[in-house]
Formats: sequence, structure tokens, C-alpha cells
Amino acid sequence: MPTIAIDGPGGAGKSTIAKLLAADLGLEYIDTGAMYRAIGLKTSKCGVDPADAGSLQAMLDGTDIDFIDGKIYLDGEDVSGQIRTPEMSMMASKVSAVPAVRKKLVALQRQMGKNKDVIMDGRDIGTNVLTDAPVKIFLSASPEVRAKRRYDELIAKGESVEYEDVLREMIERDHQDMTRETDPLRKADDAVEIDTSDMTIDEVVDAIKSIVSSTK
Ligand code: C5P
Repeated sequence: MPTIAIDGPGGAGKSTIAKLLAADLGLEYIDTGAMYRAIGLKTSKCGVDPADAGSLQAMLDGTDIDFIDGKIYLDGEDVSGQIRTPEMSMMASKVSAVPAVRKKLVALQRQMGKNKDVIMDGRDIGTNVLTDAPVKIFLSASPEVRAKRRYDELIAKGESVEYEDVLREMIERDHQDMTRETDPLRKADDAVEIDTSDMTIDEVVDAIKSIVSSTK
């Protein structure tokens, strides 16, 4: 099975689709966004200012991130639930612009993708982390559709949020992710773009499976 790199903005369906494909194709799923979220969580728990390079580097040096059975562990603690909040989305976006953070996580991601068939999703997988991946997908959807999906997810979890706030934060996060200097979100030249706005999850999964079959 070829390694699959999936990039795109928040709410495009990356993680839902990557999980289904991983189970179906027997690949290991690596959610790189969760890793940036975990660093964001630690930064806020420890009260470290991401702009303070010295303190941030000391924090990163003492940070361990691992995936076990689909859960993410930060320094041995399962933080899979704690990282899924709107605050952690913004914190992740903030810390992900810091080159020292990217350096550590990209090295870890490349290590995870070595000697194993993986499906990895994020913002810079096809352009930077796994540039040799034989299958590269860029998932997109309109900001309104992506915000509605995220809003529905948060409501289903029992959170009280307003759609307008989710949309505003999504647009802000896209802007931050696309305009940062280090590894901004962009489609790799050799990636296939799929606009999921009017597609069901199954349709997107099938579209990617046929790209995978034609690559083998
Ligand atoms: O995918 P998710 O929404 O969980 O990602 C959270 C944040 O982590 C993104 O907004 C982005 O700033 C950052 N990220 C990144 N590079 C990746 C994956 C995520 O910069 N490969």
C-alpha cells in the first residue's frame, strides 16, 4: 500500500476520511494536527509564552508525544479529549508558526512515517513532511461548509457555541496557517485537489481509493 499524504484546511474532512481509509487499506493513521494541539496544550498548561524562544525550547526538549491505539499521549498522559476545543485549535495554530516547534514535530513525523505504510494528515505533509509520498491529496471545502461541520461536531459533544463564532475562528485560523513563514498550508504541485463541499464522506473515500488503485 502506498503512503498517503492528506492536507487541507480545518473542517475539510481530513481526519474522518483518513481514519476510514486507514482501517480499509491497513495503513497506520497519523494525525499531525493532534501533535500541534498537544504542544499548544502544554504551552498553555505550563504558562510558556511561545514568543519566548528559550523557555519554549526548554519545554520542547522535555516533551514526549506518542500515539497508542489511536490516542495521543503527551508526556505519558492521554490528552485526546483535552486537545479538541476551540481554544486548543487556536493555540495549535499559534504554536505551529514557531519554527522550533515545527522542527521537532516534523522530525518526529518523518520518523513515524519511516519503514511503515502510513496515512498522514495535516497542512504540510505533501509539501514538506513526506514529499516522496506517492499519493498526495488536498481536501478543500468552502469556509461556510467547513464551519458548519465543525459547529455540528461541537454541538454533538454538548458544547455551547455559535455558528458565527466558529466561522470567524475558522477563517482566522486559515489565514494564520496560509500566511505563516514556515511551511504554510498550500497544495503540493503534485497533489490531487478534491473539493468536498458537496460530497458525502463515502464519496470522498471512494475517490481517494480509486486514486490509490491507479497509483499501485
Ligand atoms: O488539523 P487540526 O485542525 O487538528 O490542526 C490544528 C492546527 O495545527 C492547524 O490549524 C495548524 O495550525 C497546525 N498544523 C500544522 N501543520 C500540520 C498539522 C496541523 O501547522 N501538519
